[in-house]
Amino acid sequence: MRDYPADLEEMIEQIRRLPGVGRRSAERMALAMLKWPADNLRAFGGLIGRLPESLVRCPVCGNLTGDGEECPICSDPGRDRSLICVVEDLAQLYTVEKSGSFRGLYHILGGKLSPLDNRTEADLNLESLTLRIASGGVKELIIALGSDVESRGTSYFLAEKYRGRVEKITVPAQGLPAGASLNYADGATIAAALSHRQMLD
Ligand SMILES: [Zn+2]
Repeated sequence: MRDYPADLEEMIEQIRRLPGVGRRSAERMALAMLKWPADNLRAFGGLIGRLPESLVRCPVCGNLTGDGEECPICSDPGRDRSLICVVEDLAQLYTVEKSGSFRGLYHILGGKLSPLDNRTEADLNLESLTLRIASGGVKELIIALGSDVESRGTSYFLAEKYRGRVEKITVPAQGLPAGASLNYADGATIAAALSHRQMLD
């Protein structure tokens, strides 16, 4: 269907790229936004346009930060610096953080290994993780990736790579719903999984 003016059609297609949004929902959202006051629309557009510059990655862990300095988690003196929880992406970091059950630091991989899609070690945010481990003080690496095949492959790869360089390499205990990643587990499930960690051999 191409009954909409070009800009509106383009907007619908952009909204549709978001996870879980189909054509009909995207249309409803775009049409709803057209009802906003012009100033709100301009402000929203400006905000989106600024994002590539206004949100940058923490040079230590890969979390988002507003100023290019260490993120609030890395710079929090109250966090346990001997524990690093490795997650795939920001959504997982926020999920674990919201569960309130983890007081260590994080490392965002930014993806997982996928031989079929040609995603290799070079595509992961590993340089800074290697540096963090080499600089000492990291006792345990908790590899909290999903339970799909690629995540498991990536977990074993990381265990192989860092074995002997930290005291312990663990994974959260079983208890995450089969086939689901941390993104979809609730706070209590995550807290339980993190407090009963298993060695990854
Ligand atoms: Zn950080």
